[in-house]
Amino acid sequence: MNAPAKSPSAPTRPRPPSVERLLTHHGAAAPLAAYGRTALTGAIRAELAAIRAGDAEMAPEAALLARADARLAAERRPSLRPVLNLTGTVLHTNLGRALLPQEAAQAVAAVMTGAANLEFDLERGERGERDSHVEALVRRLTGAEAAVVVNNNAAAVLLVLNALAMRREVIVSRGELVEIGGSFRVPDVMARAGCRLREVGTTNRTHLADYAEAIGPRTGLVMKVHPSNYAIHGFTAEAAEADLGRLCRERGVPFAVDLGSGNLIDFSSYGLPPEPTVQAALANADLVTFSGDKLLGAVQCGIIAGRRDLIARVRKNPLKRALRVDKMTYAALEATLRLYLHPETLSERLPTLRLLTRPEAEIRAQAERLLPRVSERLTGLAAVALEPCTSQIGSGALPVETLPSACLALRPPVDERRAGAWLKRLAERLRALPVPVIGRIGDGALRLDLRTLEDEAVFLAQIDALAGAAFPSREET
Ligand SMILES: *Cc1c(COP(=O)(O)O)cnc(C)c1O
Repeated sequence: MNAPAKSPSAPTRPRPPSVERLLTHHGAAAPLAAYGRTALTGAIRAELAAIRAGDAEMAPEAALLARADARLAAERRPSLRPVLNLTGTVLHTNLGRALLPQEAAQAVAAVMTGAANLEFDLERGERGERDSHVEALVRRLTGAEAAVVVNNNAAAVLLVLNALAMRREVIVSRGELVEIGGSFRVPDVMARAGCRLREVGTTNRTHLADYAEAIGPRTGLVMKVHPSNYAIHGFTAEAAEADLGRLCRERGVPFAVDLGSGNLIDFSSYGLPPEPTVQAALANADLVTFSGDKLLGAVQCGIIAGRRDLIARVRKNPLKRALRVDKMTYAALEATLRLYLHPETLSERLPTLRLLTRPEAEIRAQAERLLPRVSERLTGLAAVALEPCTSQIGSGALPVETLPSACLALRPPVDERRAGAWLKRLAERLRALPVPVIGRIGDGALRLDLRTLEDEAVFLAQIDALAGAAFPSREET
């Protein structure tokens, strides 16, 4: 018999079934096979608890099982997963920077699940040096005498400062005391490395004589920092690297250049705005530090290249052990560097360069091809137009230079007053897709820059999913 109702007018609520009953329901077969009994029991318990707490509605048994199944599917979805970067920023730090070439992905896979000769010299059968897997390539490509790889360029700078100038002065121009973003500030890194910052010159003008005056017995290092993400224009002056290099050699102090982006090729020969190369910096500097996943187009790491005796000091520093990288990083870096040995095919095989050099006409043709389908699928939901736009290189490289591109601009079917809220909702829905689509909102539209779109099938599947899903309706906004 049922317990007497508290009040005669209260409707009798159906009682949730038992866990055991749901587990033997025929609808449990598929989730049981996929996730196992332990996980499904947990999900059913969570679902029933939500109903008891009043956070979820009671439903028929099959529906409860479907909800438990969906809960498990959501739990299984990885947190870190692929997205479509249509922001127009090719090297987007928040979206993982450079896309690895196929060759690098294969090399990583090959060493990932088994043993590898990471620190083992196969010829001599004795302990080897992990940097050996890329050092010869870096030497060949940059002209450096030696090279070391660490976790990222911030680590490279930290290590160089600590190894060469702990408890000593490091001379830097006031125009180069920059914040790169993500809390990399040159003065802070300097302090953490145990160095004393000796600022010279002014924000807009620093001369060779400023450095010459500052160099003294306490000097450990002279450093030049590529300003990366900003540019000073107007009444400006900086000491030429060639002059600084000469001065430092005369006075017997090492000279390091933090280049930021590790560019190894002549950008102008690809029709891109010029960007200093590692080779050019090494012509004057004793050491150069640069990122592996900016213009170099490889994996996250920092490379220190330069004079053999200084690299030996860097390698002996205990911080090197703390900042070293794993076999997957060496595998990806080695495979990517090898692509540079074949300049004829580089712009095809290195995704970063391939995306940066995509001709505007090709991107526009792609936009024209996609427009009818996207427009048709989103009928009544958004007005879609093809527009010219500009892409950015990103990651601090060439901050003022942009590349002409084409985009699909999505505009609301609602009046302008409510456009802001609609665009926010649309961006949310795009982020919630199976492969999240990340665009850029501005001037009353959400723009999808197609420079970085290579997999059209994946993109169109997302548009289909967007059209099929609930959408910000006129009423909602
Ligand atoms: C990007 C950059 C850094 C930091 O490099 P990460 O690889 O992001 O650690 C340091 N210095 C300069 C000049 C940079 O452009």
